[in-house]
Amino acid sequence: MNKQDLGKRKIAYFTMEVGFDPKMATYSGGLGVLAGDTLKSCADLGVSLIAVTLLNEKGYFAQKLGAEGAQAEVPVDWPKEEFLTLLPVQVSVNIEDREVRIRVWEYIVKGITGATIPVHFLDTNLQENSEYDRGLTSFLYGGDQWYRLCQEIILGIGGVRAIEAIGYKNIEKYHMNEGHASLLALELLERTKKDGEQDVHKKYDLESVRNKCIFTTHTPVAAGHDRFPLDFVKRALRSNLPFEMPDIFIRDNEINMTWIALNLSKYINGVAKKHGEVTREMFPGYTIDSITNGIHLLTWVATSFKKLYDKYIPGWQSDYFSLRYALGIPKEEIFQAHFEAKKELIDYVNARAGAGMDYDTFTIGFARRVTPYKRADLLLTDINRLVEINDKAGRIQIVYAGKAHPRDGGGKELIKKIFSRIKELKPKIKIAYLENYDMTQGKLITSGVDLWLNNPLPPQEASGTSGMKACLNGVPNLSVLDGWWIEGCIENVTGWAIGTLQTQGRDSAQDARDLYQKLEKIILPMFYNEKDKWFDIMRHAIALNASFFNTQRMVQEYVLNAYL
Ligand SMILES: *Cc1c(COP(=O)(O)O)cnc(C)c1O
Repeated sequence: MNKQDLGKRKIAYFTMEVGFDPKMATYSGGLGVLAGDTLKSCADLGVSLIAVTLLNEKGYFAQKLGAEGAQAEVPVDWPKEEFLTLLPVQVSVNIEDREVRIRVWEYIVKGITGATIPVHFLDTNLQENSEYDRGLTSFLYGGDQWYRLCQEIILGIGGVRAIEAIGYKNIEKYHMNEGHASLLALELLERTKKDGEQDVHKKYDLESVRNKCIFTTHTPVAAGHDRFPLDFVKRALRSNLPFEMPDIFIRDNEINMTWIALNLSKYINGVAKKHGEVTREMFPGYTIDSITNGIHLLTWVATSFKKLYDKYIPGWQSDYFSLRYALGIPKEEIFQAHFEAKKELIDYVNARAGAGMDYDTFTIGFARRVTPYKRADLLLTDINRLVEINDKAGRIQIVYAGKAHPRDGGGKELIKKIFSRIKELKPKIKIAYLENYDMTQGKLITSGVDLWLNNPLPPQEASGTSGMKACLNGVPNLSVLDGWWIEGCIENVTGWAIGTLQTQGRDSAQDARDLYQKLEKIILPMFYNEKDKWFDIMRHAIALNASFFNTQRMVQEYVLNAYL
């Protein structure tokens, strides 16, 4: 990149994970996919931004499932040289007084009009580093708490140094995508230190740091925020941080990454309206806005729908709002495009899992990180009831996918439970659990099923984005009212809700009954007997939701509310 272009970049976006391409295993799930989609839309819109992340050389993990659903985790070797270029730049950070050297790889995101976003992948796998330090940028969300802290030092502190060394001299805003990158704000604060000043409150220039920092939180559950014992942080960083300013980032002898970001950011946001509310309740006293997440439409649109939109809504690729005109696309063509996407999914599922599924049966999709609050087994709560619905209201088949975090015992148990239910249901209902959920499967499933199901325990879903991918491809959602669906659901117009907005004392058995009721009385009869109504819902999912829940609208909000 030439000097002039380096000088033009004003915003630095920091993220622990990023999902650009299924072959680049540098993401685990929603947070990374969102980061990738955000950066693609920044490129499409020509935003003067750069990004920083970790190399995650061995990925998150590849999932292997045994016959009973036991999950094994295998490291991934993704071909980094195919995607990244090594820059002639090195920086270092000190951890326990050891110098840890960092090199930097660059990935270029190209937008539809040719504008670019450079993304910098930090890599400590250098001969001059110790064996342990060489592995610090290997595993996304791997290792123990100490490993995680070291990774966050590389990302936050190493990241700020890396972009300066590359030559970006005019960065005005640092955007922390989740608290993993919070140490960058302490690095900036440390630089404002006036030596010799006795009054702590005058010693550091908090205001100048706040003016530079933007924080997006994604976690509506207190336990989900990164915290480290204070002695860990002191052991790792010695005195190289403003430890004299305890009230802004130390609580109960812990350093909490979210508190750092909250205290050192001028603009803070949650990722859906409801999530903004929940975050304001969790952290009273802060001004917290919300910007609802989106998806990058060109990434998630099935080939058949892309052709359809190109034909009926020319220009939609650079103007996502214009998908509102999808209401004028003839229903038969919507049907045909969906049939092609469905065929692709069913062929994939049959080839991968020998599921023996067919193209005509009503197909339900459920794919996400497997963890208890997301209740992947809700649909299988009462299998006799499910069989009754299948026999009386219309035949169903189900596609599942999802990984559990290696240390999430509850999530791993859930996969086994689903496997055992699959066996019980086998004679009656075809269900496949696909191994190793990734972006390729995410696209196939969200575009190829007839109904996208989502049923987390509210209010724990910050936003969710898979349901948006479904809308884009004309697939209606049946979902609990949480995250983005509170905004996206118009009952019987864009899809359906499970239960009410209630969050306190929510009863899973009741949610399961609601789910069965909607399937039996409304959804299956409409799918099988009232095709005209069904296609109308498909069109409204596109026109009302895909035109809004996309990263083009989202990035414009960030530019107007956070960056300017
Ligand atoms: C879209 C996507 C996600 C996001 O999932 P949500 O559960 O809707 O937040 C996660 N993983 C993959 C592979 C995806 O494609």
